Amino acid sequence: MVRDVIIIGSGPAGYTAAIYCARALLNPLLIAGYSYGGQLMLTTLVENFPGFPEGILGPELMQKMEEQAEKFGTEIIKRDATKVDLTTRPFKVWVEDELYEANALIIATGAKPRLLGIKGEKELLGRGISTCAPCDAPFYKNKEVIVVGGGDSAMEETLELTKHVSKVTIVHRRDQFRAQKILQERVLSNPKVNVKWSHVVEEIVGKNKVEGVILKDLKTNETYFYKCDGVFIAIGYEPNTELFRGQLEMDEKGYIKVKDYTKTSVDGVFVAGEAFDYRYRQAITAAGDGCRAALDAIKYVDELKSKKA
Ligand SMILES: Cc1cc2nc3c(=O)[nH]c(=O)nc-3n(C[C@H](O)[C@H](O)[C@H](O)COP(=O)(O)OP(=O)(O)OC[C@H]3O[C@@H](n4cnc5c(N)ncnc54)[C@H](O)[C@@H]3O)c2cc1C
Repeated sequence: MVRDVIIIGSGPAGYTAAIYCARALLNPLLIAGYSYGGQLMLTTLVENFPGFPEGILGPELMQKMEEQAEKFGTEIIKRDATKVDLTTRPFKVWVEDELYEANALIIATGAKPRLLGIKGEKELLGRGISTCAPCDAPFYKNKEVIVVGGGDSAMEETLELTKHVSKVTIVHRRDQFRAQKILQERVLSNPKVNVKWSHVVEEIVGKNKVEGVILKDLKTNETYFYKCDGVFIAIGYEPNTELFRGQLEMDEKGYIKVKDYTKTSVDGVFVAGEAFDYRYRQAITAAGDGCRAALDAIKYVDELKSKKA
């Protein structure tokens, strides 16, 4: 059975694409992944997704998106796609040894924030640990937070945080930042910011929420407790695009290259969300991309059908 469309990935981009394709009667198959629901499953309250004036819990929002996709006839497999072949038509997608084929493919495999891999991190993610200042900074009004990192994104996260918090301490393992000079200047001239140069975070401490961190001074090897209310990790993201390496054009960091909004280097393969978008990184923009990719895939499938007729 060759399907009209397969969608791989189940964050806001994948579910939105599924809702549009299902309502267009393409009977989409959504390969949602073992970590279905995407990054919002890692957070608590989402306050900037339109339609929820009181906010909505990340997992609840993703559950609603899943229900909406299913309601219109999306078939969902909650396992990972393990191999694809985009060189033949129809496109082939494997989930372990099961083969699925489709005329169009939407890639919505998202990205994952790089984490520190230290004690306390997994337990407190979404409970005082964040990887998204534009999403979570307003929760830290007049509080003290640390930012881990020294590149552009750490500077941007810091500047966003200074609008809300009383103090930001940047913890950086080197004795200078990698970020653009102009961003460094803005950060370093802000009276709310101080920097712990040549320091690393060894542990994040707290029972149900962050209470502080254990810092290590790399110059003296001294470790000590540093009180803070939140930890923003800004050491970069990794797109989940390994599966498509060698088959789709990507940039040097592995983000899929797009042309004409949603099209990839292979005709009939579309991309949505953070698998290509390293700039906006928001649920609403990912959902918007999912809508665009679906509309383009629907048009592509319709044209294919009318050529065959
Ligand atoms: C802690 C945290 C808090 C956040 N808070 C907010 C917020 O308040 N507001 C906001 O707008 N944004 C927030 N964001 C950002 C938002 O979550 C992302 O912008 C959005 O989820 C990106 O959506 P996406 O659909 O591109 O991909 P993702 O959400 O990354 O989802 C991709 C999905 O694809 C799956 N996948 C990957 N590979 C495969 C495969 N081979 N087979 C099958 N499935 C696969 C993954 O497991 C995942 O489920 C937050 C992010 C984090 C980490």
